[in-house]
Amino acid sequence: MRVVKQSVDEDESRSSLRIERGSCFGVRVCPFEVRPYTLRAMSGSDYMAMLEVAKAEARKGLAEGGIPIGAAIFDQSGKLIGAGHNRRVQNGDPSLHGETDAFRNAGRQRSYRNLIMVTTLAPCWYCSGLVRQFGFGTLIVGEGRNFQGGMDWLRSLGVKVIDLDSDECASMLSDYIRANPEIWHEDIGKG
Ligand SMILES: [Zn+2]
Repeated sequence: MRVVKQSVDEDESRSSLRIERGSCFGVRVCPFEVRPYTLRAMSGSDYMAMLEVAKAEARKGLAEGGIPIGAAIFDQSGKLIGAGHNRRVQNGDPSLHGETDAFRNAGRQRSYRNLIMVTTLAPCWYCSGLVRQFGFGTLIVGEGRNFQGGMDWLRSLGVKVIDLDSDECASMLSDYIRANPEIWHEDIGKG
């Protein structure tokens, strides 16, 4: 009997759910009302502010004796999801690029389509593959002068790629490369 009653209740609840959903059309009280898209469009200054977080990560890496490349992941409202920096030297780990460090620190995400990957340097093939694999919708790049990486490839796949061409990002890394050419060449697989 109990089983039957539960089944009836479920049917009733499913039925009322259908009615409420149906009433969404033109009725304001519907609990399933689709909320209007309240987020304003991201502007160049928003992207610059996001880049500041990635730059701070790059500086942290430099202070630790590492390669100054940082990254950060944000959602569409500008909330920081994760940040990180290249730790090849610090951790002796060649897989920890700025992007992968930020990606790991962000933890599990249901979807990456609406997330923004921000990195001080154009992503290498390895990190471009990460952006592609997980379907990041937007990539913000600090500079692509020291390294072009996979920016054009990602653009061709429909990823929104914005190169902010930051002098500070470019000089921070070029100074490092000049002083540590062997570590840089090791990092990009040209050692
Ligand atoms: Zn990389």
